[in-house]
Amino acid sequence: MDELAGRLMSMDPPAAEKRPCTLENFGAEIQYDHDIATTTMFEMLEEAGVELRLGATATAPRMRSNRIHAVDVFDRHGAQTVYPRMVIDCSGDGDISAKAGVPYDLGDASGNMMGVTLTFMMVGADVTRVFADPDPYFTAQAARGIADGRLHEDLGKLYLMRGFHPDTVFCNSVVIRGVDGTDPANVTRATQEGRRRCLQMADFLRSDIAGFETARMMYLGPTVGVRETRKLHGQYRITGADLAAGTKFPDGIVACDNPIDDVMRADVSMTHDAIVGAGDYYTIPFRALVPETIENLMFAGRILSADPTAFASVRGMPQCIAMGQACGTAAALAGADPAQTLDHAKLVAALQSQGLRGLGDEDLRGQ
Ligand SMILES: Cc1cc2nc3c(=O)[nH]c(=O)nc-3n(C[C@H](O)[C@H](O)[C@H](O)COP(=O)(O)OP(=O)(O)OC[C@H]3O[C@@H](n4cnc5c(N)ncnc54)[C@H](O)[C@@H]3O)c2cc1C
Repeated sequence: MDELAGRLMSMDPPAAEKRPCTLENFGAEIQYDHDIATTTMFEMLEEAGVELRLGATATAPRMRSNRIHAVDVFDRHGAQTVYPRMVIDCSGDGDISAKAGVPYDLGDASGNMMGVTLTFMMVGADVTRVFADPDPYFTAQAARGIADGRLHEDLGKLYLMRGFHPDTVFCNSVVIRGVDGTDPANVTRATQEGRRRCLQMADFLRSDIAGFETARMMYLGPTVGVRETRKLHGQYRITGADLAAGTKFPDGIVACDNPIDDVMRADVSMTHDAIVGAGDYYTIPFRALVPETIENLMFAGRILSADPTAFASVRGMPQCIAMGQACGTAAALAGADPAQTLDHAKLVAALQSQGLRGLGDEDLRGQ
């Protein structure tokens, strides 16, 4: 993440900026030009020699004892088979891991998953006037819109974020509840419902919030973003108690202090409660990315092994990226050996040599 942000910030003109987040308990946020960032990420993959297959879906694993012998893949050429040494499931939903037999939880103890969101940008806004109101959620204006039926009743908090470009505002507000992100029909329905609510909200912004009068909607997401589906069971399940204690695991692969970022699981509530004291942090253990029995499988990102509280903190993009980095590094170190027997000290040392901080004996508190 640091490497990506560094590349973007060092461009002329800079394509990213680090600034304080307006929401409580989040540290700095990195805003960037989406198109340049996407191109840069693909360039980084090209430089690393990664062979990409956009539009390919992994459909099923073929097991041989405790190993994934092959993975069936489908793209427009038809069905194909990949024979992997190691599988790293970074799919958010973990279809392949689940079909390989890794146990999982869907959502919280009652099966509630965080709401899904369709986002958009408002372009051509006068951001100084838009953000003259110190309330980051525009609650007074939103209440008016809901009361007279111009906004959906779940839009009591309009989270608007200053975009990277000076006249842009990112709208991360439209949340659709009760959607199972592993079901394509559910996601399709939620996306169309999201489009309706986003268009309604854009109209509302123009008519009711100073600074948006001549702005227009752009970059409406192609599909809703899914926050939470399966949480796979790993060798270790990271818990809210681990986080609250600021646990620094011997096999910690990334240091993190994200608040509990819970978005409309059982009801309309959203939280950003701090999980560690100011300046403290916890680490995510590598064992939360490794299943108990399947020898050539690891998982990175929001499908890691976590209880619902821990999940709400660990799911941020920088942590997900670091989990992928840890799994990639672990795969290289493991060779043909099982992921479960990897020497954790070697992995942590390798990640430290790549520049990751706050791992092993390095204590970042007070820095
Ligand atoms: C609306 C929204 C706003 C957010 N805002 C922030 C924020 O401001 N800051 C932050 O840090 N985090 C934010 N998050 C959280 C963060 O974006 C996610 O938790 C994180 O991106 C998850 O990354 P991932 O790689 O695990 O999964 P995903 O980003 O879900 O990526 C999984 C990928 O795998 C692909 N895939 C799935 N199944 C298969 C298959 N069978 N075969 C092939 N490909 C497959 C998917 O198409 C997808 O491209 C937000 C999330 C949402 C939904």
